[in-house]
Amino acid sequence: MKPNLLLSVILSCVVCFAGNAQITNNADAKVNQLLRQMTLDDKIGQMTQVTLAVFAKGGWANTDGELDPALLKAAIQKYHVGSMLNTTAHALDVDTWRKIIKEIQDETKNTTLKIPVLYGLDAIHGQTYTLNSTLFPHNLAMAATRNPALVKVAAKITAAELRASGVRWNFAPVLDLGRQPLWSRFPETYGEDVYIGKTMGVAAVKGYEEDGLTNITAVASCMKHYLGYSASRTGKDRTPIYMPEIEMREYYLPQFREAVKAGSSSIMINSSDINGTPVHASKYLLTDVLRKELGFEGLIVTDWEDIIRLHTIHKVAATPREAVVMAVNAGIDMSMVPGDYSFFDLLKEAVAKKEVPMSRIDDAVRRILKLKFKVGLFDNAYAEENARANFGKAEYQTVALDAAHEAVTLVKNNNNILPLAKNKKVLVIGPTSQSIAVLNGSWSYTWQGNQEEWYPKDSKTIADAITDKIGAANVIAIGAKGFASKENYDIEKLNTNAANADVIVLCLGENAYAESPGNIRDLALPDDQINLAKAAFATGKKVVLLLIEGRPRFITNIEPNCEAIILPFWSGRKTAEATADILFGDYNPNGRLPFSYPKSMGEMVMYDHKGTEEKREIFNADVLWNGYDPLFAFGAGLSYTTFAYSNLQLSTSALKGNEKLTVAITVTNTGKVDGKHTVELYSKDLYASIDPSNKRLRAFDKITLKAGESKVVKFTIDKNDLAFVNAQLKTITEPGDFEIMIGDQKATFTWNN
Ligand code: BGC
Repeated sequence: MKPNLLLSVILSCVVCFAGNAQITNNADAKVNQLLRQMTLDDKIGQMTQVTLAVFAKGGWANTDGELDPALLKAAIQKYHVGSMLNTTAHALDVDTWRKIIKEIQDETKNTTLKIPVLYGLDAIHGQTYTLNSTLFPHNLAMAATRNPALVKVAAKITAAELRASGVRWNFAPVLDLGRQPLWSRFPETYGEDVYIGKTMGVAAVKGYEEDGLTNITAVASCMKHYLGYSASRTGKDRTPIYMPEIEMREYYLPQFREAVKAGSSSIMINSSDINGTPVHASKYLLTDVLRKELGFEGLIVTDWEDIIRLHTIHKVAATPREAVVMAVNAGIDMSMVPGDYSFFDLLKEAVAKKEVPMSRIDDAVRRILKLKFKVGLFDNAYAEENARANFGKAEYQTVALDAAHEAVTLVKNNNNILPLAKNKKVLVIGPTSQSIAVLNGSWSYTWQGNQEEWYPKDSKTIADAITDKIGAANVIAIGAKGFASKENYDIEKLNTNAANADVIVLCLGENAYAESPGNIRDLALPDDQINLAKAAFATGKKVVLLLIEGRPRFITNIEPNCEAIILPFWSGRKTAEATADILFGDYNPNGRLPFSYPKSMGEMVMYDHKGTEEKREIFNADVLWNGYDPLFAFGAGLSYTTFAYSNLQLSTSALKGNEKLTVAITVTNTGKVDGKHTVELYSKDLYASIDPSNKRLRAFDKITLKAGESKVVKFTIDKNDLAFVNAQLKTITEPGDFEIMIGDQKATFTWNN
């Protein structure tokens, strides 16, 4: 992080703690007073959230953000709607958003209680739905940076740009764990590791909220999608999860537990079902675990249409009203209905029939109103005047570039073919070479992110950024926009042009996608891309592969012929520039994979697998299979320099009770260029009452080392870092021997209570 940004982060924290208690007391009193004045319609309306298309002129076809006054009036006056979300076709400009918010809040002034509307948007890697906002790397790419300070600063900028647009509620961060690479929302996750998920998730929540929600640089966060959403068996979005509770507690719950502790204001629920029970109908998960065990006090909102779907899709509710009753009694506070007012009507009926107690309604409304106080809506519900200037500041671009630099990951570099000399003639081909959408992925100015026309005009493609770097005379770019374009796979053209090139930069991957439209049947790359790769190899020129994708598509058959491979991920606005900097040596790569890149469907093994997955059974001496055999391992990531580890030291070899263990290691940059490097500390429980993991990441630290420089890096861990969920579903640390691993260094110690 740049020092000036760091300073403003610190200063704003100091300011935000002043007077918090006062605000809380006042808010409680005001909420109670309001609750006493509210009719049942007022209350149920507060629990209702509708999408913009419901009151925009032309509905979903609306493109200019113009509202229909009669429809808006119905939403506010007749249905007392408490919350609104989303855009229609695409992003709108900042002033249109400010106008939309004004019109909505103006309308609330015509009601008796004048309760402002809470507007929410999905700004999951920057403010998705405001044109020209700053888009940062998606979570998966952010996880590759191993830099929580960057996550936090990106979240702060996102908050500022949302708030400039008049919006104070962000449906982020995604805290789902990425252990199912087929899942179309894999790029929205922080990857397969629980510790990275917790650390980055907490950094994001703090980035959004820590300035204090009345401040124009903060927004309410929304942890999502509680719980286990990412673990669908088929990998198709919103399909069933079958998960024993021991796994749920070990891998999927900790991120939410930590984000709750970090103060996240709201939570969105998993649209699917776990072991047959839709999470929206699970009193156990919503009330017993989330409220009672995790102590979450904030607002629980459904995901899109998920109450209706309890009846229409899950079929656990025989009628639409039963669906409403189930969800609200399970603990839902607000329904993202979002396309009609059915929830309002049905909940009203249900209350009249005493199927939902008033105490539950009051509890839900209290939480909603409290959040509205917390974000300052009762003081000023309009887009704040001074927030406007926080949109699109030039320095945000620097942060976007820093983040992309640290995210882009180099996983192969035979004979140091990279960095390329800038006087080499480069042939740039492939379907991801001429597109901006492929570099940004989902939730980028449109839901799917795949419409090029909405991106800022100064956005660069890979071909543009390479041309900027080495000059048009050195670049032959023969791709075209669009995966379907035949020009991207023109082998004859490839052959003709390869003759004039020194090296081929082959750009493969996937187009942008989000949610169900991103469902695929397997991870194989399409044949036309594989054939293009083979044709590139056949030219005899050296091939550098840029694999631009949201999830790991198989390249096992083409990898051996690629001299170098870079994974730029969906790294936002500056993906192309960062990648070109790395290709030509203007930036030394330091991204590390946050997931295990599989070779094939039969090799989906995570780095923290069990001992039984470590070695395959051996039936004769010739067959020795390594159970963890990814194409690129979790944590893989090369640099243009080399780092060596030495002198691993533990403060004790016999740790007791709550004592802290200090682990020190010397790291040396043994190469010729300066570089950043993430030092990762793993632990291993040697014997435990259930199969221990092969190893677990417990801490990491990113350092910068000049060529030849050494630094001692210190970590502190305690028994909580060694804990696991046992057969009785308790998180415990068992006495015994543990191993600490950093790079190639190992040391053991015992822990006893
Ligand atoms: C997604 C959520 C999102 C919501 C509102 C849903 O389809 O699953 O992640 O917050 O839409 O846009």
